[in-house]
Amino acid sequence: MIDKNDWRITNQENYLKNKELIYAHYKPYSSKWDHDHCAFCNDTFSEYGSDLHEGYCTLDHYYWICSNCFNDFKDMFKWKVVNE
Ligand SMILES: [Zn+2]
Repeated sequence: MIDKNDWRITNQENYLKNKELIYAHYKPYSSKWDHDHCAFCNDTFSEYGSDLHEGYCTLDHYYWICSNCFNDFKDMFKWKVVNE
């Protein structure tokens, strides 16, 4: 069990608690962007080489969460994955 003092926790409770998520292939939120970061560990999502290509995101594709962080924090944040 991850505790609340984990270095990856900042203020995500304000915008990610109890959210519905989908597991998706990375797609930029805006056509002006070509990458995003995991909302917790800051790993990079993009369509390029060694970056992450798949993960969990909010229904609007705005916030992305990598699989590691998803597994670590899913109980704390009570996420509901709606496309599994
Ligand atoms: Zn992460």
